[in-house]
Amino acid sequence: MKHVDEARVNSFLEIEASEKEIDSVLEKARQLKRLTLEESAKLLSVTDSALLKKIYDAASYVKNTIYGKRVVMFVPLYISNVCANSCLYCGFASNNKLTVRKKLTFQEIKEQTEILLKRGHKRILMVAGEMSSSKENTDYYVGAVKAIYSADYKGNKIKRVNINVAPMSVDDFKKLKEAGIGTYQIFQETYHEGTYKKLHTAGAKSDPDNRLDAVDNAFKAEIDDVGIGPLLGLYDHRFEILAMLMHVEYLEKTYGVGPHTISVPRIEPAPGSAYASNPEYPLTDEEFKKLVAVLRLSVPYTGIIMSTRETANLRDVLVNLGVSQISAESRVTPGGYEDDSVVTPHNNKLERQFSLNDQRTLDEIVKSLLLQGFIPSFCAACYRKNRTGEHFMDLAKPGKIKHMCDINALVTLKEYLEDFAEPEIKELGYKLIEERKTKLDGAGLNALETFFKNVDNGIRDEYI
Ligand code: SAM
Ligand code: SF4
Repeated sequence: MKHVDEARVNSFLEIEASEKEIDSVLEKARQLKRLTLEESAKLLSVTDSALLKKIYDAASYVKNTIYGKRVVMFVPLYISNVCANSCLYCGFASNNKLTVRKKLTFQEIKEQTEILLKRGHKRILMVAGEMSSSKENTDYYVGAVKAIYSADYKGNKIKRVNINVAPMSVDDFKKLKEAGIGTYQIFQETYHEGTYKKLHTAGAKSDPDNRLDAVDNAFKAEIDDVGIGPLLGLYDHRFEILAMLMHVEYLEKTYGVGPHTISVPRIEPAPGSAYASNPEYPLTDEEFKKLVAVLRLSVPYTGIIMSTRETANLRDVLVNLGVSQISAESRVTPGGYEDDSVVTPHNNKLERQFSLNDQRTLDEIVKSLLLQGFIPSFCAACYRKNRTGEHFMDLAKPGKIKHMCDINALVTLKEYLEDFAEPEIKELGYKLIEERKTKLDGAGLNALETFFKNVDNGIRDEYI
């Protein structure tokens, strides 16, 4: 597989580190310096609980220093489960006869978006299966992105559409960029070639390099924000993390910037997939927590995304350890959002891709974040102001972006509280806002107060 030297990754798996060595890696990480593969491997080798605690403390420190208390909220929108591939772990696999196939029309996509807007969502991750014709894929994705942006609920619009869809050519990515996508996200699933070939036996996805090339194609089409990740459970998670970090090194060397986000999906049971119920390399919650913390330390400027595959309790812990973006009230079924009843039981639906473990509403998740002192953010200012790719990294690196982002996040939180939150959440939200104001002064505080006045006067969607 391109960009991955398996023998080198395997040699890192042999590493054992002393407490002194771990302390020295953590000291470097606390200076917000990117870690080498060897240093990351040392951290991943830790099993001692006292040393793990040191890793968690350092991860919280780095998260707080770079991202402050913000957690970006998004919601996935599944537009189609029609797929020509046959990934062994997925409910949408073409040979899965159980799955009821649905490819939403652009009108249906717009209607689904309006339901999400009505609940307060502002950022969408559009997800689809892969059809066999690349032209059909691109035309459909472009039309869908336009349909999402065209949706409107009382003046509320979607601010950013990220996409998790099939690999495309540079020219096709350019069309998606023109349609206004934010991040292009693609998971390598496994960076272990033998496992990859075993699990992807048909369709375009059977070539692992095709997926790695998709990341390059997106960069070449000047989509600066690209998201990557392994699907955890398919192979040894330490191998996956280190091989993915090798992929990150390749991107940094080639494009001057690494991935904008890393996702760490864990495999979940899926209708019609015996494999998904019994994956070969399941990992414990403790191992999962450790790898999130190690990623936070290893690539401090890369966003980490956590989906509703994980339980509410674990997600609450992980936002402290490094996760910077979380999804809320997700449905992994095309057309799965229902007006006023987004939270109806979902795991029994046969059109779904896999099972979900956090079924809380957006308001419930917002409440839990507020109680922990986090600012749920619906902001997309960086992307709208072209603070993407290398430019984003330059701003993020010295921690410069933190205050700007705090102001934008607080404005979006106030808008949410005014327009969508239940009274109890509104009260909690304003309490947090008051606390956060004490951390700002001078021009920052003045800017915030002006934005807040404007929100009170009915003006929405202002940002710096
Ligand atoms: N079809 C495109 C692809 O495969 O890249 C994009 C959409 S696919 C629905 C998004 C991701 O879902 C996949 O990349 C895979 O990592 C994840 N996925 C598939 N089956 C899963 C399962 N059983 N549990 C958790 N995640 C799963
Ligand atoms: Fe299709 Fe993606 Fe599921 Fe594979 S993971 S079967 S490509 S939807």
